[in-house]
Amino acid sequence: MNPHVTLLSVPGLGHLIPILELAKRIVAFGSIDASLLVLNTDASPAQSRLLSSTILPKGLNVVDIPSVEITSFVDEQTDIITRTSIIVRESLPHIESFITKSARPTVLVLDFFATAALDIAVGNLCIQKNIYFASDAACLAFMMYLPTLDQQVDGEFIHLSEPIQVPGCTPIHVDDLLNPVRDRNVDEYKWFLYHASRFPMADGILINTCQDLEPISLKALRENPILQQIPMPCVYPVGPLIHMDKPLVQSKNECMTWLDNQPYESVLLVSFGSGGTLSTEQVTELAWGLELSQQRFIWVVRKPTQANTSGTYFTVGAEQNNPYDYLPDGFMSRIKDMGLMVPSWAPQVEILAHKSTGGFLSHCGWNSTLESVLHGVPIIAWPLYAEQKMNAAMLVEELGVAVKPIVEKGEVVVRREEIERVVRLVMKAKEENVLRERVEEMKRRCLIALDEGGSSYNSLSQVIEKWKTSCIVENVSDDG
Ligand code: UDP
Repeated sequence: MNPHVTLLSVPGLGHLIPILELAKRIVAFGSIDASLLVLNTDASPAQSRLLSSTILPKGLNVVDIPSVEITSFVDEQTDIITRTSIIVRESLPHIESFITKSARPTVLVLDFFATAALDIAVGNLCIQKNIYFASDAACLAFMMYLPTLDQQVDGEFIHLSEPIQVPGCTPIHVDDLLNPVRDRNVDEYKWFLYHASRFPMADGILINTCQDLEPISLKALRENPILQQIPMPCVYPVGPLIHMDKPLVQSKNECMTWLDNQPYESVLLVSFGSGGTLSTEQVTELAWGLELSQQRFIWVVRKPTQANTSGTYFTVGAEQNNPYDYLPDGFMSRIKDMGLMVPSWAPQVEILAHKSTGGFLSHCGWNSTLESVLHGVPIIAWPLYAEQKMNAAMLVEELGVAVKPIVEKGEVVVRREEIERVVRLVMKAKEENVLRERVEEMKRRCLIALDEGGSSYNSLSQVIEKWKTSCIVENVSDDG
C-alpha cells in the first residue's frame, strides 16, 4: 500500500505557494496521493483566491484546518515567526486528528516553521517525517548551524567584529544577517532557534533549490565535516518550483494589456513581495530614481510605513492605498507614458513571463528570486527583511545575476541618482548586458534540472521511492 502524503502549510503566500507547487509535483509523479493542510487566518482571502485559481490535479486535495484563537498569545506588535509558530502550536489537535484518521501510513511534509507538528509523529513508526524548506540552501546551512552558534557565541551576533563563518555559506557580514537573529532576547529569535533545533528530528529535508543554483551550499549540507557532526537528515533539492497558474487577482488584466503595448524587454517590474513596504523617504527617492532613469516600469506600490519593513504580511490588498496620497507632486502625470502604478498586488509571475519585461527590482524573497531566474529576468536586489539580505548577496556575488544599489555612508535610504544608475544598468540592451546573459544561462540549467532525468527530478523521485519502500518494509514488519 502506498503512503498518503500530508503536507502542512503555514499562513502567508510566500509559504503556501511553494508547498502547493511541491504537492502538485509529488502527485504528478504518479501512484501517490496527497492532502495539503492549510491553516486559516486573516490571510484567508488571499489564500482562498490562490487556491481557487489553482487547478488541482487528481490525487491532491486541499483541507482547511479550522482557524484557532490566538489573541491571548499575540498582539499587533508580534512578529511573523512568533505568530506563525503559535498558530501551528494551537492547531496541533486539528492536524493530529486529520492524520490519525487516515488508515494508511503517512508521510508528513511540514513547512519549516511548522516543526511543532513533528511531535505528532514521535513514536509512530508509520509516519515519516519531512520538512519542506522553501528557501535557499545557504539559509538551511545557516539554520542547521544556528544551535551550535547559539552555544558558542556570547552576546549578540550583530556585535561580532568579523563575518560569521558557517559551512556552506559565504562568510556572513553582520549587516547581512537574517532579521530573526539580530536580537537574541526577543521571541522571534527563540522561535527561529526552536525550529532550527528541531530540523535534525526529520528523516528528510526537501528544499526548493537545485544543484546548479547552489552547488557549494548543497555540497556542504551533504559532506561538510562540521555540519556532519549535527544529526543531518538527507537533503533533497527538488526545485526551483514556482507558481505558474492564473493570476491571484483578476484586475481586468490591466498590467498585461499595458505590457502588450511595450517594446521587447523594456519594462522593469518593481515589487517587494507579498508584504514589503518602504519608508516615506525611500518611496520618494524611488519615484524620482525611476523617473530619472527614463525606463519603462510597473511599480506594485504600497502605502509607505515608518521604516522599510515586512508590512502587513498576511493581508494583501486590504489596506487603503491611494498612490496620489504619498507620491511626489506631479509624479503620476509625468510618468503616465512610461510607467504603470499598480496598488498593492500584481500578477507577478505573468509579468515576469511577458516578453516586454526586462528587469526586476525585487526584495529577493526566495519565491521572487526563483520566478525571476526561471524567466531569465536580471534583478536589482533590494532586500528588506527575513533572509533576503543573504539571498541578495548570493545573487550578486555567487550567481552574478543581480546588482545591488549602494547606500552611501551615513544614509538610511538609497538615493535617486543611485537608483537611476542601477535601473539603467539592469535594463541595458541584451548585447551589452552581462547580467542578462548569466540569468539566461541559469534559467536554462534550472529547466534541465527539473526535466525528466535532471538533478531535481531525480532527487524528488528518489525521496518518493524511499517513502514507498519504507512503507513496504513497515507493512511487512507489522504483518510479521
Ligand atoms: N506576489 C504576487 N504579486 C505581488 C507580490 C507578490 O504574485 O504583487 C507573489 C510572488 O510572485 C511570490 C510571492 O507572492 O510568489 C512572494 O513570495 P516571496 O518569497 O518572493 O516573498 P515574501 O512575500 O515571502 O516576502
